[in-house]
Amino acid sequence: MQDKIWLSSPHLSGKELFYVKDAFEKNWVTSIGENIDGFEQDLKKCLGNNHELVVLNSATSAIHLALVMLNVTQDDEVLTSTFSFVASANPITYCGATPVFLDSEKETWNMCPKVLQEAIEDRIQKGKKPKAIIVVHLYGMPAKMEEINEIAAKYDIPVIEDAAEALGSKYKKQACGTLGNFGILSFNGNKIITTSGGGALVCNTKEDKDKAVFLSTQARDNAPHYQHSHIGYNYRMSNITAGIGRGQMEVLPDRIEARRKMHEFYVELFSEINGVDVFSEPTSDYYSNHWLSAIIIDPEITGRNREELRLALLENNIESRPLWKPMHLQPVFADAPYYGENVAEELFNNGLCLPSGSNLSDKDRERIANVIKNFFN
Ligand SMILES: *Cc1c(COP(=O)(O)O)cnc(C)c1O
Repeated sequence: MQDKIWLSSPHLSGKELFYVKDAFEKNWVTSIGENIDGFEQDLKKCLGNNHELVVLNSATSAIHLALVMLNVTQDDEVLTSTFSFVASANPITYCGATPVFLDSEKETWNMCPKVLQEAIEDRIQKGKKPKAIIVVHLYGMPAKMEEINEIAAKYDIPVIEDAAEALGSKYKKQACGTLGNFGILSFNGNKIITTSGGGALVCNTKEDKDKAVFLSTQARDNAPHYQHSHIGYNYRMSNITAGIGRGQMEVLPDRIEARRKMHEFYVELFSEINGVDVFSEPTSDYYSNHWLSAIIIDPEITGRNREELRLALLENNIESRPLWKPMHLQPVFADAPYYGENVAEELFNNGLCLPSGSNLSDKDRERIANVIKNFFN
């Protein structure tokens, strides 16, 4: 059996160990230290230096904190993209609130502005104005932020950008994660860079950042003893983990370039195959990090479906994965409201994510190309 080709595996640079070793040598191994500050500075710079940011133990925690900071509580409603990973929706339930799932549009696969407008109107008519909007930039592709922000402003509803998959992506030249009231980044193992596990909350003001740090460190009041007047969380990142992040930030531009090259490789490969579309930026307003390359297969034109392709790849020890199963179709969210016309469902039925790692070799690409060409011939 040939080596496994993974969908998206960690790609370390070797530079991480320098920072991790430094943390060990200075005995700064918990939740303060130079790596935390350095990693936060690196990320701020990458986002354009106009935002504050706090690194945390996961993006899931970051979403939860953003909701807490927006006072989302029991019986509130939060609008979010149905087409996403479950971590965009779970934190809503941690607050005792209800997720309301919104369908995608076909260009970016992200939250449809028209559906957003309809859903807000309908929820208000039913008696409750949504407390927040969580918009996801799926697979690194920026959502239609101008339209979404316009609608959000019209109804005065804050926007949380789930940019967990979109570090380095840009919408109209502005970094994803900096386009809403709060932004979310993830450094989980399969993301474009990894700290082994971790996330960040992007804030618009220093005040918000300070509050996020306070809440993420058990909400300890300023007193010599341990005094608490708020419920807090233990969500901070360790200085060791942040060291991995600093090493990864040194190679982020290379990683983005490599992922975008993988996307180009698929565009070229499928240009010769009828009935398969490679997920691509609709216009030059969108700059995707192409965290995962994805295709949509038209079963009528190709006579094949995405599950058959997945199995053909697997037979050759190549990992691929169906697109995210929409949240409104998940058993755990069966009772949650949904708005849309099943665009996400159709994408799920016909879509497949293909190996996209920045560490794939020419030989890997040749193997992938051979299986795909044979499959469709
Ligand atoms: C990975 C991911 C998350 C969660 O990130 P963690 O750091 O693993 O908590 C949230 N949203 C989306 C869209 C993701 O892909």
